[in-house]
Amino acid sequence: MALLEIRGLRAEVDGQEILKGIDLEIDPGQVHAIMGPNGSGKSTMSYVLSGRDGYEVTGGDVLMNGTSIMEMESDERARAGMFLAFQYPVELPGVAGMSFLRAAVNARRLDNGEDEIDQLEFVKMVRAKAKDLSIDEEMLKRAVNVGFSGGEKKRNEILQMLVLEPTLAILDETDSGLDIDALKTVADGVNHMRSETRSFIIVTHYQRLLDHIKPDYVHVLKDGQIIRSGDYELALRLEKDGY
Ligand code: ADP
Ligand code: MG
Repeated sequence: MALLEIRGLRAEVDGQEILKGIDLEIDPGQVHAIMGPNGSGKSTMSYVLSGRDGYEVTGGDVLMNGTSIMEMESDERARAGMFLAFQYPVELPGVAGMSFLRAAVNARRLDNGEDEIDQLEFVKMVRAKAKDLSIDEEMLKRAVNVGFSGGEKKRNEILQMLVLEPTLAILDETDSGLDIDALKTVADGVNHMRSETRSFIIVTHYQRLLDHIKPDYVHVLKDGQIIRSGDYELALRLEKDGY
């Protein structure tokens, strides 16, 4: 069964139709890249999948493991295993990074009938993952994303992903604004997490990231519709010939 099935998805923002019938099926373990010009609806699709407010779904359905998620709030979708790394990560003044991560992990554990995670064990685990991403420990004590540089915000999103271990991770232009070292770090994080039961949607403008994360499929989103699909070779051709 598909981990994610998008059927004829249509959505509006401020009364304007942005997604005009999207069909996409993602099996467990697959990595799908979404490419396409600015303003084609890539972020809108990511937000609609994650259940963010302000987007009106006017048609179609989205199923996770065969069950429609359209009536689920974003926090329910997160607890069901969906994770979205934002193109523009949100600042959470007054919420320290470590506490935020622990709250998110515990919400999911409680939902699954598990006990809260042992605090010491948790801090150790987060520190190790942060170190892999060259995230300074001091950063985890600060309010989430407040005063972070663009690159720090992106690495922080990847840390959240590594700690939350989602079954479906959506990365919306996580590579934009990253230098080549940080880009490799992000790719390593994704590759490290790839497994038979976990799937990824990688939204990106550039084929650069896909050199490091070889996706199984590449789709081109243009004017709210998927106009082409192919394998990794498609990304190479797009880089050369444009959309
Ligand atoms: P992409 O991520 O592919 O660059 P977006 O999904 O951000 O594209 O935007 C798709 C279209 O929807 C654009 O024309 C954009 O102007 C419009 N749009 C997105 N968000 C809003 C919003 N909150 N209010 C009005 N228009 C929006
Ligand atoms: Mg976008």
